Amino acid sequence: MIPMPRILVTNDDGVRSDGLRALADVLAPLGEVTVVAPLIEASAIGHALTLRRPLRLERFGERTYAVDGTPTDCVNIGVYTVLRGQPDLVVSGINKGWNLGDDVTYSGTVAGALEGALLGIPAIAVSLERTNGDFDFSHVARFAAELAEAVLKRGLPPSTFLNVNAPLGKPKGHKVTVQAKRNHVTSVAEKVDPRGQPYFWIEEGQDDWEPHDHSDYQAVRDGYISVTPLQPDLTNHKALDFVLELPLGTRAGVE
Ligand code: MN
Repeated sequence: MIPMPRILVTNDDGVRSDGLRALADVLAPLGEVTVVAPLIEASAIGHALTLRRPLRLERFGERTYAVDGTPTDCVNIGVYTVLRGQPDLVVSGINKGWNLGDDVTYSGTVAGALEGALLGIPAIAVSLERTNGDFDFSHVARFAAELAEAVLKRGLPPSTFLNVNAPLGKPKGHKVTVQAKRNHVTSVAEKVDPRGQPYFWIEEGQDDWEPHDHSDYQAVRDGYISVTPLQPDLTNHKALDFVLELPLGTRAGVE
């Protein structure tokens, strides 16, 4: 008998998020799903790892646990403590809000999948367009299950994870994409608090994206689900020669 695949589910919106529950429920027929998610929302926390305080693991329900830390903490505690071994798949989401283009570096949702890839586990991050109304996770959840099934069957190339973003409503289909580039227009508002001290409020960047036919942003704008293969390695191979040719090597005592 083939053992049931083990699937670890996490997110950055927190263990109480209905997006997390929708994802865990839709993956349940594919294997044994274990949820380990942040106790408190940890959006835009990126790939942070908690090293300077203890972490607590709390049982929240059937195969569902909360950690008072980040998505990266959750994946590590999930793998080493809860599952006591590598799962076959890590899935992070469903995030309330896109994680597109350059923004993936800020994303706790994407970082959950990134940590899976770093541990050598196939991983998928899933995000849905933000709305002021109720979130309908049904379409993106079904796609996530189909993709998870395919990845469980076929695996992924080494050091690869998938970043999925979906538009609201019924998608026209899916597209395989590259990361869009945003012209960074993040602004910092400065105000003064009631005690006369300045405080700062970082405004989320406006949507000012460079046009690109095959980008994740273009795909979701056009009504498709976007699937981008990402990798943890940030090395810019095209820049190696440039850096090699920088006039260096005298001041550190290197001959
Ligand atoms: Mn989030």
